Amino acid sequence: MPQIISEGIILKTVNWKENSQIVTFFTDNAGKQSIIDRGGRSMKTKRGRIQTFSRLEIGYFKSERSGMGYLSEVELLESFSLEKDGVLGRLAFASAALELLYDLLPDDEPQTELYQITIQFLRLTNSIPKNSLLPVFLAYFLKNLSYLGYRPNFAGCIACGRGRKSAAIAGSGGENGPASKFYFFTPERGGIVCSSCQIMGEHYIKLQAERLDEIYSLQIASLAEAGAISISMKEGENILELLTGFLKFQTDVREFNSLKFLRDLRKVQG
Ligand SMILES: [Zn+2]
Repeated sequence: MPQIISEGIILKTVNWKENSQIVTFFTDNAGKQSIIDRGGRSMKTKRGRIQTFSRLEIGYFKSERSGMGYLSEVELLESFSLEKDGVLGRLAFASAALELLYDLLPDDEPQTELYQITIQFLRLTNSIPKNSLLPVFLAYFLKNLSYLGYRPNFAGCIACGRGRKSAAIAGSGGENGPASKFYFFTPERGGIVCSSCQIMGEHYIKLQAERLDEIYSLQIASLAEAGAISISMKEGENILELLTGFLKFQTDVREFNSLKFLRDLRKVQG
């Protein structure tokens, strides 16, 4: 068995026989890889210890017969302490991002660009001002989906291609005033629909025009630019609700913890 060398971050670790564990990595050159770390939970392990929230160089052997990988070497390249101004927020955002990857990444498929952008996200989450954490996380979430082929369309009507502004539906006035406009988003078709392309009985999420503008700017911004977009916790929750609703239609994943963590975070921060 030839040794494979990758760079990777840990997505999940589960205990296995005796003092071994199965470590799922997101690697730069081989995508998601679950690798057996023999004796990894023992104090006597000879090689470097694996560490979460860090860039690691790993060496492993992959059995051609069983497809199982066995960890042979570990070297720490960079670690993200996520401790600046108190641990809670940064750690929660970073954990949610890694969970999302664990849920969505297919096995054994290289995702080089998504890997690089994930590292960039972790670096930013480690260092940016606290009020930029939420918009950067949402922008990362949207980019993550695009790389994995689930790009929701906020640019215009998903059916006829009509531009965003003319796909808006005029509100009836009332408490939001006569100028309020909104959009219908279909999780099933994965985008907004104009009034002529609506299908009777189809499920829609109603989106205020301002919310859609926010999502669209988060989707097209770079991660660094996204930090300057101002998003409240409540707005962030709405956006995540929309995206997780969309993902439930598009994938087999039934439960996303990313939404729950934001609610918890909002409770703590008041
Ligand atoms: Zn249309």
